[in-house]
Amino acid sequence: SEPLLSVQGLKVHYAVRQGWRGSAFAVKAVDGVDLTLHAGECLGLVGESGCGKSSIAQALLGLVPATAGVIRLDGHEITGAAQVPAMALARSAQMVFQDPMSSLNPRQTIREILSGPLRLHGMSDRIEREARVAEMLGLVGMSPEVATRYPHEFSGGQRQRLCIARALILRPKLVICDEPVSALDVSIRAQIINLLLELKDRLGLALLLISHDLGVVEHMSDRIAVMYLGRIVEEGGWHEIFTEPSHPYTRALISAIPDPMHRDKAPARLGGEIPSPLAPPDGCAFNPRCPHALPQCRSGAGPDFTPIGADHKARCHLLHTGTNHV
Ligand code: SF4
Ligand code: MG
Repeated sequence: SEPLLSVQGLKVHYAVRQGWRGSAFAVKAVDGVDLTLHAGECLGLVGESGCGKSSIAQALLGLVPATAGVIRLDGHEITGAAQVPAMALARSAQMVFQDPMSSLNPRQTIREILSGPLRLHGMSDRIEREARVAEMLGLVGMSPEVATRYPHEFSGGQRQRLCIARALILRPKLVICDEPVSALDVSIRAQIINLLLELKDRLGLALLLISHDLGVVEHMSDRIAVMYLGRIVEEGGWHEIFTEPSHPYTRALISAIPDPMHRDKAPARLGGEIPSPLAPPDGCAFNPRCPHALPQCRSGAGPDFTPIGADHKARCHLLHTGTNHV
């Protein structure tokens, strides 16, 4: 079947001016990304802060223009000349943010917060709106009586449930979750993860899960794309990524999961910092941090994707040398 979301060759470049009267140049926040996502599937997009994953989310929501590439979402082409306004996209895609405290207006009741998007999208009947609000509260495991209360009356986990209810209120087919549990207490993370998974199955939602934490991605994703400095460096099914991680960066992220079960797969911890996208390194962008860098890793445009299996590919010169186990 046709994917709900298909992204081809997406580039999001920003013009940046450095210093007083400095010349403008392009920061390549996203530099040629392909993604597909089907209804009922969760794609985990993982990488460190600054790798471009949030810029992808903003492009999908129509909040930043794509510099190049094609995005098709739910039958609409949302890039180029056919650019669809963010308002129209809201019925196809919605976002759940990291910090449920700052994304809920403290002066509004839960009913006002949840019914706002309905009013904006033309649902003029109050009874109809209240029925939808009660339905969404039920979906996230909350009682309809909470509609008259204010955000400060709820715990962090309850507030994230309310944010999820708001994201679902227009019945979108794609929900983008940007670090949905990072701001929450460890003890309630599993509840929110399980809620998102349950909603995915019940509503046939497509989830794009954005996280720096491969441990969270591991619990939720059917497929995983690992991003580094504007590019996907490895992509595959859950099984492929966790049993046969092939890019040194993926291995480093797995080794950072605080679970001893994974440690033998990836003995090396990741040192160094992600380079500035203002001055990306030549060659493979990971080379300054890579314990296995070869001379050819330091020049040129960087490695292309090498297919590893039917649903698995990575960008690394080592894959050509036959030494898959690094
Ligand atoms: Fe390391 Fe070279 Fe592979 Fe990049 S291409 S990840 S520097 S071995
Ligand atoms: Mg981010």
